[in-house]
Amino acid sequence: MGKQGCVYLVGAGPGDIGLVTAKGYQYLQQAEVVLYDRLVNPLLLEYASPQAEFIYCGKMPKKHILRQEAINDLLIQHGLEGKKVVRLKGGDPSVFGRVGEEAEALEQAGVPYEIVPGITAGIGAAAYAGVPVTHREHSLSFAVITGHDKSPSGEPLIDWHALAKGIDTIAFYMGIGNLPHIADQLISHGRSPDTPVLLIQWGTTGKQRTLQGSLANIVGKAKTAQFKNPAIILVGEVSEIKKGESWFESKPLFSQHLLLGRASDEQSAIGQHLRDQGAEVFEFPRMQLKKNLLKETDIPTDKDLLFLSPASVDVFFASLQANKMDIRHIQGDFYGVSPKTVKALASYHCVGKEMSERDPHASTLVILGDSEGIDREKQRYSFVFDQDFIATHTYTRVPQTLQTFRRLQEEERIETIIFPNVRAVKTVTESFQECGESPENISMYAQVICFGEKSKQAAVKAGYSVDKVLSEPTEKALFEALLQKEFSLAAAFS
Ligand code: SAH
Repeated sequence: MGKQGCVYLVGAGPGDIGLVTAKGYQYLQQAEVVLYDRLVNPLLLEYASPQAEFIYCGKMPKKHILRQEAINDLLIQHGLEGKKVVRLKGGDPSVFGRVGEEAEALEQAGVPYEIVPGITAGIGAAAYAGVPVTHREHSLSFAVITGHDKSPSGEPLIDWHALAKGIDTIAFYMGIGNLPHIADQLISHGRSPDTPVLLIQWGTTGKQRTLQGSLANIVGKAKTAQFKNPAIILVGEVSEIKKGESWFESKPLFSQHLLLGRASDEQSAIGQHLRDQGAEVFEFPRMQLKKNLLKETDIPTDKDLLFLSPASVDVFFASLQANKMDIRHIQGDFYGVSPKTVKALASYHCVGKEMSERDPHASTLVILGDSEGIDREKQRYSFVFDQDFIATHTYTRVPQTLQTFRRLQEEERIETIIFPNVRAVKTVTESFQECGESPENISMYAQVICFGEKSKQAAVKAGYSVDKVLSEPTEKALFEALLQKEFSLAAAFS
C-alpha cells in the first residue's frame, strides 16, 4: 500500500504565533505541503519543515488570488499523492473559514482529513484588548456574526431583533464595510444607542489598534480613524471593560516589528526576550545546518582541539559515534572559544579550557567550526599557532524564508533591522537581494541598528544607512535603543 496522505485543516489563531495549538504546531512541523491564507501570520511559516512546499492562497477582498475550487483541488491532489498537507487558516477554521466546503470536497474525493480548531479572532482579539467576551456581571451570552454575506448588498440577512434584544456580547467579523448598517439595525431593533462598542483591528499582532465608542457614534469615529478589516466589532457592555492600554498594548516593545539578522540555525535568546517584551521578531534568514560527519581517518586523536561553536562540538561527537570510536582515543586537550562552547563540551563530560590557558608553542592545534567560520579563522590565527582546520558543518539558507520575508514586506511589517554581527549583515543582505530588495531601498522605510562598529562598517559598506550603533553589544543596550525609537506603526497611525 502506498503512503497514506492526510489533510489537516488547522486553525492558526488570530495573529500572535503563540496562539496556535500544540497539535496544529506539530502538524505544521511535519507537513510536506502548507497552504496558507492571508490572515495567517507569515512568521508561523518559519516553524514548518525546511523542506515543505508553501502555497499562498491569499484572498484580498475583491481580488481572489486562488479561488476556493482551486484550493480544494490542490488539497485533494496533494492528499491523493500521499502527502501530509496542512491547510493553515486564520483564527478557527470552523468560524467563517470555509472549512465545511473543504472538508466536504476531501470527503467526496476519499482523502482523509482532520480538523484542528484554533482561537477565533472574536475571542482572541478581545482578550488581547483586555476584554473577556463573557462576564458574570456584564454578559451571559456571546454570539459570532458575519458582518458581510453573499447577498448582492453584502448586508447579512440575520434576525436583528433576536440579536439586538437577546445577546449580550456580539462579535461581528468582516463587518467594517457594513458598520453603518450594523449600528442602524441594532438601534432600530431596540438596542440602546449608548451600548458600548469596541473595534479591534489586527488583534493580537504588533499592528493591533482599538477604538471605543457607542452604537450611536462608532461609525463617525471609525471613519475618522480609517479603520479597516481585519477587525472585530465587539458590541456589548463588556466593551467598556477596556480602560486605556490593555495588558498586551502596554508591553514595552508592543507594536515594534524587528528583523533580527542571523547567520546560523540557532534561535537566539535575545529574539525570545524581545518577544517576551511584546515585539514581533523575525529571525532572518532562517538557516539550516548540514553536518559534515568526519571519517575515522580524519578525526585527530593526538592534537589539541579548538571548537568554534556548540554545533561543532555536536558534530565532532556525532562523528565519534558514527565511527564507533571511544572518547578515550582522543588524547589532545579540548578548548572552546566561548562559554557556550565550553558548556557544550561539558554536556559530553569533557572539560573545555579557555584559549588563554594554552601554551602558544604547544603542538598543532586543530580548529573545528562551520565552513565560513573556518575561513575567517584561517586568516586570524595563522601567524600564532601551528594549526589544522576542520569544517564540521555548513549553513545554508532555507529557501522558504524568502517567502516569509515577502509576505511581511507586503504587510508593512519590516520596520527595524538589527545586525548583531558582521556575518548577519552578509546573510541578510544576500537574502534581501534575492527578493529584489536593496540595502539602499530598505533603509528608506526601515531603521537599521548595529551591535557595534564592525557590523556598522559592514552595513554601511553594503549600502545601508545605519541609524544607531549600540553603546555596548548587549541585550540591555538594544532594549534601551528600541525604547527610544522615534517612530513605530502605532505612532504613525495615531
Ligand atoms: N476563521 C477566522 C475568521 C475568518 S473571517 C477566525 O476564526 O478568526 C475574516 C475576519 O476575521 C476578518 O475580516 C476580521 O473580522 C476577523 N479577523 C481575523 N483575524 C483578525 C485579527 N487578528 N483581528 C481582528 N479581526 C480579525
